[in-house]
Amino acid sequence: MSVTAEKVSKRYGTQLALDDVSFQVREGEVVAFLGPNGAGKSTMMKIIACYLPQSHGTVKVCGYDVSTHPLDVKKNIGYLPENNPLYPDMYVREYLNFVAGLHKLGKKAAQRVDEMIALTGLTAEYKKTIGTLSKGYRQRVGLAQALIHDPGVLILDEPTSGLDPNQLVEIRQLITEIGRQKTIILSTHIMQEVEAVCNRVMIISKGRIMADAPTTEVRRLNKANRTVFVAFDKEVDLSALRALDGVADASAADKGYKVFARTDADVRPHIFRFAVDHDLIILSMEQQEESLEDVFRQMTR
Ligand code: ADP
Ligand code: MG
Repeated sequence: MSVTAEKVSKRYGTQLALDDVSFQVREGEVVAFLGPNGAGKSTMMKIIACYLPQSHGTVKVCGYDVSTHPLDVKKNIGYLPENNPLYPDMYVREYLNFVAGLHKLGKKAAQRVDEMIALTGLTAEYKKTIGTLSKGYRQRVGLAQALIHDPGVLILDEPTSGLDPNQLVEIRQLITEIGRQKTIILSTHIMQEVEAVCNRVMIISKGRIMADAPTTEVRRLNKANRTVFVAFDKEVDLSALRALDGVADASAADKGYKVFARTDADVRPHIFRFAVDHDLIILSMEQQEESLEDVFRQMTR
C-alpha cells in the first residue's frame, strides 16, 4: 500500500477541517481529491507530506508512519504544494541543485538535475531565473523539484490551477506520463481534470470523503446526467421524443420538456430534425452542463 489514512481528523482551533477520513491508495494508482474550496484537500495533503500534524488518526506512506518516521516518509514522497512556492531570484538549475542538496543526493545530484530538466521539458528555459518563467514553466520546475529524489509517491496540490488552456493540456500530459511509474494523489475541483488524468476519484466535502470510485464510474454518471431542456411552440407527444435517436427518456418540465440523453449521445441535432419534421418552432433549447454539484449529488446519493 502506498498511502493509508486511518480515521484521520484535523482541527484548526475550533474548526474541524478533516473529520474521520480513511482511505488506501495502492501502488501505481493516480487518484484525485475532488472537492470545492475549503473541503480539506490541502490539509490532507500536508499531513501526508509531513508538513502538518494530524489531530487524530494514523497516516502511512510506503509503510512509514508520518508521525514517527517523517524522514523515511519524505524520502518516498514528492510534494508540490498549493500555489507552488518557489524562489523567484534563483536560476532553474541553481534551484534544482539546491533541492538535490536538501535530499542529500551527493554525486548523483548533477545527473538527476539534468534528467529532471529533460523530463519536465525545461531544457529551453533552465538558464532563466524562476521569476521570469511563465506560470506553466514554473509548474514544471515545481514538478521537477518534487521528482528529483525519485520518490514512489507524488502529492500534487492543484497542479493546474491558474494555467492557460495550452499549459493546462501540457501539464496534464506530463502528469499522465509521470503517473505511469508513480503513485499520484492530486487535488482539483475540475471534473474534466479527473477524467483526463486519474483512474480513481475521492470526492471530499466538508472534511469527509463522500464518495470513492473509479473514474470510469464517474464518467458514466456524468454522461448519464446529460439533460437537454427544450421548449416548442406547441405541445408534443412524450413518446415521440422518447423515440428519438440517442434519447434515454423524456419528461414534461416547466414550459417545455426535459430530454435525457444516453451515454455519449448529443441529442440536439435529432431534436432539431424532429421539430422541422413536425412543423414545430423551437422556442429554447439548452444542454445542461456537467457540473461538480451534479456529480456530487449522483455519487453521494
Ligand atoms: P481545500 O484545500 O480543499 O480548499 P483546506 O484544506 O485548505 O481545503 O481547508 C480546509 C478548511 O480548513 C477550510 O475551512 C479552511 O478555512 C481551514 N483551514 C485551512 N488552513 C487553516 C489554518 N492554517 N488555520 C485555520 N483554518 C484553516
Ligand atoms: Mg487547497
